Amino acid sequence: MEDLFLETLFTKGLMRRPFENLAATAQKAAAEALATDGPAAAVLKTAALGARAAADIARVRVAAGQWDPAPACRRGCAHCCALKVDITTAEAALLRAAIPHDDPRRERVKARAKELLGLSEEERMQSRVPCALLGEDGACSVYEARPLVCRAASSLDADACARAKDRPDAAGEIPVEPWSSASMRAAHVGLRRALATDGKPAPLEDIHQALAKLL
Ligand code: SF4
Ligand code: SF4
Repeated sequence: MEDLFLETLFTKGLMRRPFENLAATAQKAAAEALATDGPAAAVLKTAALGARAAADIARVRVAAGQWDPAPACRRGCAHCCALKVDITTAEAALLRAAIPHDDPRRERVKARAKELLGLSEEERMQSRVPCALLGEDGACSVYEARPLVCRAASSLDADACARAKDRPDAAGEIPVEPWSSASMRAAHVGLRRALATDGKPAPLEDIHQALAKLL
């Protein structure tokens, strides 16, 4: 299951090998960070590798005249923050460290976890309930600590995202830049492998459920 992402790349005939290599590099870096500085550091390390790989690919493609990306994703754009976000325990640890003990977001996360508990993937998609970490100013309140799946967002058109927010069937109309998304997702595969227990990659859990357990 953890390799579904890589299998998808393979069946689509895309660049499986470089992303396998990136996942392996991220796994090694995450394992080292886990041993020395803990899970939060492992997440930041893998996120940095994913971001660097995305930037490298962009630079090469732009230089080759293949592409002139104009990514729309930025802090403060949050039409996608009502989608289901699944994270590892390490990402939950990083989020917890980013939220002070007496911060009201802790109670918001716990309440949202109760509200969403037991929803199927489909029901969660349809609910359009925003992430409890979305700030009142409309921006992610934990941007520097956000999960890897949030970092993998790579839309080229925020207006298309806004339309899809109210009409989930329009999600397929969002133009995306696949390489930065793939880079971050490969880094996530590496993180999950580094966190593996009994030979199985670390499981993923809804952000509210995973974080509420630590609060
Ligand atoms: S995926 Fe769409 S809504 Fe989310 S940050 Fe990117 S442009 Fe904004
Ligand atoms: S963690 Fe931040 S970026 Fe991710 S869904 Fe929540 S508010 Fe949005």
